[in-house]
Amino acid sequence: MAPGEPSAAPADRAATAAPAPSPPAGVTPSMAQFLEIKAANPDCLLFYRMGDFYELFFEDAVAAAQALGIVLTKRGKHLGHDIPMCGVPIHRADEYLQRLIRQGFRVAVCEQLEDPAEARKRGSKAVVRRDVVRLVTPGTLTEDSLLDAKARNYLTALFDAPKPAAGSPATIALASLDLSTGEFEVGEVAAADLPGEIVRLSPGEVIAADRMLADEAVRKWLGIAGTAATPVPAASFDSLAGERLLKAQLGVADLAAFGAFTRGELAAIGALLKYVELTQLGKRPCLRPPRRSGSADRLVIDAPTRASLELLRALSGERRGSLLAAIDRTVTGPGARELAARLASPLRAPDAIAARLDAVGLLAEDETLREDVRGTLRSAPDIARAISRLALQRGGPRDLAAVRDGLATARASAHLLAAAAGVVGLPDGLSRIAECLTAAGAGLEATLASALVDEPPHLRRDGGFVRAGFRTDLDEARGLRDDSRKVMAALEARYVGATGIKALKVRHNNILGFYVEVPAAAAKPLLSEPLADTFRHRQTMAGAVRFSTPELIEIEGRIVTAAERALGLEQEVFAELAAAIAGEEAALGELAAALAELDCEAGLGELAAEQGYVRPVLDAGLTFDIRSGRHPVVEQALKAANAQTFIDNDCVLAAAGPQMPAGFDEVTEARIWLVTGPNMAGKSTFLRQNALITVLAQMGSFVPAASAHIGIVDRLFSRVGAADDLARGRSTFMVEMVETAAILNQATERSLVILDEIGRGTATFDGLSIAWAVVEYLHEVNKCRALFATHYHELTALAGRLLQVANVTIDVREWREEIVFLHKVKGGAADRSYGIQVAKLAGLPKPVTARAAEVLALLEKADGKARGGETLIDDLPLFAARPKSHVPAPAGPSPAEAALSAINPDELSPKAALEALYRLKELARKDRS
Ligand code: ADP
Ligand code: MG
Repeated sequence: MAPGEPSAAPADRAATAAPAPSPPAGVTPSMAQFLEIKAANPDCLLFYRMGDFYELFFEDAVAAAQALGIVLTKRGKHLGHDIPMCGVPIHRADEYLQRLIRQGFRVAVCEQLEDPAEARKRGSKAVVRRDVVRLVTPGTLTEDSLLDAKARNYLTALFDAPKPAAGSPATIALASLDLSTGEFEVGEVAAADLPGEIVRLSPGEVIAADRMLADEAVRKWLGIAGTAATPVPAASFDSLAGERLLKAQLGVADLAAFGAFTRGELAAIGALLKYVELTQLGKRPCLRPPRRSGSADRLVIDAPTRASLELLRALSGERRGSLLAAIDRTVTGPGARELAARLASPLRAPDAIAARLDAVGLLAEDETLREDVRGTLRSAPDIARAISRLALQRGGPRDLAAVRDGLATARASAHLLAAAAGVVGLPDGLSRIAECLTAAGAGLEATLASALVDEPPHLRRDGGFVRAGFRTDLDEARGLRDDSRKVMAALEARYVGATGIKALKVRHNNILGFYVEVPAAAAKPLLSEPLADTFRHRQTMAGAVRFSTPELIEIEGRIVTAAERALGLEQEVFAELAAAIAGEEAALGELAAALAELDCEAGLGELAAEQGYVRPVLDAGLTFDIRSGRHPVVEQALKAANAQTFIDNDCVLAAAGPQMPAGFDEVTEARIWLVTGPNMAGKSTFLRQNALITVLAQMGSFVPAASAHIGIVDRLFSRVGAADDLARGRSTFMVEMVETAAILNQATERSLVILDEIGRGTATFDGLSIAWAVVEYLHEVNKCRALFATHYHELTALAGRLLQVANVTIDVREWREEIVFLHKVKGGAADRSYGIQVAKLAGLPKPVTARAAEVLALLEKADGKARGGETLIDDLPLFAARPKSHVPAPAGPSPAEAALSAINPDELSPKAALEALYRLKELARKDRS
């Protein structure tokens, strides 16, 4: 299966990957046990614990061996056939799990529930008790090794609530839980906004009823977001069960404190929590109070806009090249997740945005505070993930230590903030953070610090994590255990003395326990009286003989008992510490969130200081006034490449400030700017930078500009025409029109619309007419603020006809017949397209560009005469006039010329242009020869 595709439905997988035969009569007890467990988990690969391996059998083994590239072997026979088998060692299980999950498999982990020794007590044939302890699916991961530290991993339940009344708009309820942190959000969106919401959440896994997953748009965007889709029975969307489960989870009798939930939301919550129960086998996850999400207080950004603006991922699908990568200066995983969450859902309320900007502003200004805070946070562990693992009984000693160290970081950070508060006073946002940082666990931190060694081991099983001096009984048991070891060494010395055998050693193995070993040649005295009284023969090996003695047995008993007792006491301490942490789960959750916010805000402060960003002004008006704006990603890329510096540009839409900037003298106040200019001038860059500045401003970040005044935007749309959208399976032009339709149907007076070369995907005059009508509609009906880049010069005439449309262009200079891009936006329309100069830059042979210049001159003349008529370029008597240049006149159009005249540079994609150049070069070469 290709990565990124929604994974196959479990039902499919059950059919293809893992049917195991049902237990017929006469199978061995252990085979019967396996078949029973497998039958209960038909849709998963079964990781079956056997000693130090997880083993897979039958079809599971075949599928896993292929997916992991490991050896497929055989183990025994079932009903006369070899049983295919493969296995992965326990200590590398996470790595293999990760690879299987990435490939769309689900894995059931089956553990031994008792010590094999226990089973043996029930009889030599007794089978070790085993059962599945957890289902591993893409949306329920908790291990750091399976997760990206910088990305959230949501499990999202989708539910299309029945319409309250016929004709009312369809809504979808969503409930999302990051099981690895307990982050939980619930909301409803209009059905039309679902794709945008899916891309915003980018869940690891979505669960929904079959009907919903069959929806083409849903499948498409799940695929693009790289989300696995798991169908669940429609019956699990039960709002009453949802309400009950949620109350139980949050430990409340009434949900009122968390706001009102719709029936649809409760149904989605019901399916979500049921699925968590199913996959975690009833273990209780850590759940933070649900946050409301929804479109009312957020800047709504639809799915194509998210993709086209490359907010969290570049078009390549990678983080590199995205806006997120350009602005991320956080120093912790939780901080990076918080930043990504803010970027994915910018706000709409000016107050809430201002509160964030206050915090960022202080941290941008106060360099000492910022550096101290960032320095302190750098070592902060991921507390939220540690707490979640502990809650799911999957945590280890390092998770306890993470809470201890996190509490210390929180305390240190709170000190820094308190000191700053004394000097400059803190904005509300930072005061609230400071409170959360100190609200939890003063006692807990002290307990953890005194209980745990500085650097605890990874595994809980082997002990060694409790600090000496924490518990006297543990110290005693350990003393006894370790003393006994010393006693053993003394015993060895004594035996060497008593027997005179220098090579005598006291050794240990799992079968004999402690024993005395002497070389075979020296064994004789021990086998005869009087030493044989003490030394009882156990084993004769090739070169050595082994004995035990009554003292050895006695001391061994003491060692084993003491070691077991010490281990038992450590497990007790672990359980107590885990319980103490669980007792403060809510406050610790707040504290973890506060650390993440602080890191995010300090990172944005760092960004602002480093890149010279300014604080934007946001209000309820409809202004859009950016002075000297820059593109946050391109600017940094140019800097990194030591290329030219980025040229800043103004953008003043709608009710402008006191006056228009220099260079825009003739531009009157207008809501829509038509941007014309040759290819490569910087039109797309200009459009996108203004959209990105809006996103940054409303998420509460400073922005790359000299000043920015933005009347709050409710919906942001961005479309790039003629983008190569073939991968998404629809013809380019169709996609362009579908997406343009969405804008015209949804944009309001408060929206900001960026249209880049819309109408390119069809024939010239079709495209021109559509672009024309779109601008008129935006102007007359939507009345939104918009930037419209176009290569259709004809559109510039609209500025004369529509009051709120103004022309701007991007400056270019000609210099010795070459074109120089100034990348500077100014008032007015582009005088022409400079296609021939661009072709020259691209290395088109001189005769071709020279001839093209002549043809252009003819066309322009003819066009002048034909204005207002129906004359198409194709109808012009292109080759009627005799060329008068030094280019040898061909009898008719040469093949190269004919090919050239058939090209419309404005309609070429870069790839097609390159191909055309090769073709023309080849034709030109043939012409000459
Ligand atoms: P267009 O859409 O007009 O064809 P683009 O926006 O794609 O042009 O820009 C072409 C190239 O010019 C970009 O790759 C970018 O590196 C450069 N560029 C664009 N705008 C600027 C600017 N303001 N300052 C510096 N370089 C720019
Ligand atoms: Mg462009």
